[in-house]
Amino acid sequence: MQTLYPWLLLYYQQIVTALLQGHGHHALLFKAEPDLGIEQLVQAVANFLICQHPNKHQPCGKCHSCHLQQAQNHPDIHILQPLENKDIGIDQVREINDKITLYANQQGNKVVLVKSADCLTEAAANALLKTLEEPTANTYFLLQLNDSNTLPATIYSRCQQWHIATPSVEDSINWLKNQINAEINDILTALRVNYNRPLATLNMLQQNLLEQRKIFLRYFWLFYTRRSPLEILPYFNKENIFQQLDWIISFLVDGLKIKLGVTINLTNTDLQNGVLQFSEKQTSLNLLKAYEIMQKVRLDLTEIKGVNQELILLEGLTRLITDVFEQN
Ligand SMILES: [Zn+2]
Repeated sequence: MQTLYPWLLLYYQQIVTALLQGHGHHALLFKAEPDLGIEQLVQAVANFLICQHPNKHQPCGKCHSCHLQQAQNHPDIHILQPLENKDIGIDQVREINDKITLYANQQGNKVVLVKSADCLTEAAANALLKTLEEPTANTYFLLQLNDSNTLPATIYSRCQQWHIATPSVEDSINWLKNQINAEINDILTALRVNYNRPLATLNMLQQNLLEQRKIFLRYFWLFYTRRSPLEILPYFNKENIFQQLDWIISFLVDGLKIKLGVTINLTNTDLQNGVLQFSEKQTSLNLLKAYEIMQKVRLDLTEIKGVNQELILLEGLTRLITDVFEQN
């Protein structure tokens, strides 16, 4: 049996059933929110496809092809992925196209895994499109795409799309309870902070980030009450910076919700008093402005490379003071 997260199982069954019945599609596009572990599903389908003697819905795990795959050395599994975290260029696609026009090394299927399909350059996407339009026999393309990213419409039209849904809160809780020994309230809070994504939630609980978040938001509180960026700036750290920004952003969003009288689906229920006190002192317009400032900081940090991160943070924090806190 291949190990699969429970929320991926049904998709695997459906895809493999179609393949077994002879009406599987040669190009599958997997779309999902980040952090759902869909690479596991994509790999499982690839493993099934290259196995020479699958046992119903599962690869046998024993044939030569399975052994090559287990050693991550299968000559008919090709991977297209961004080079040096940039893009997937046309030369990479051409190289793969050349390889798949040849006979399969193991006389079975050939599989091309396209990781981060949104990173294909325009030229690379066009080259791939040609191959998708005129597929060689026994060749399968498995494309992986983050939900918030897009692909050229022409590529979509050549693929069968699989949208992998985020599991329900109940299913996530059941799975998390089996993974970690944690208080149910902590599980619930961590799930909310992580948009109900189970893997990110598990990571948060394992790394004790829930506690770190509380401490970090306390620094945010000091920054707010003392109007001094130095109360929080030193506590941002490179590895967690986006999470830390999300913590602040969700605090601001909760403040705005309370201000507008929306008290359901708050994220920071464990810090409700703080959020309440904070929102009482702000106008809804200022809370909205604070939210926009922090979103812009987040965006700038993802897009602008090579600039001092601290400078972007400092500018955003200063704007919070001058444009929001001191406007009340
Ligand atoms: Zn096998």
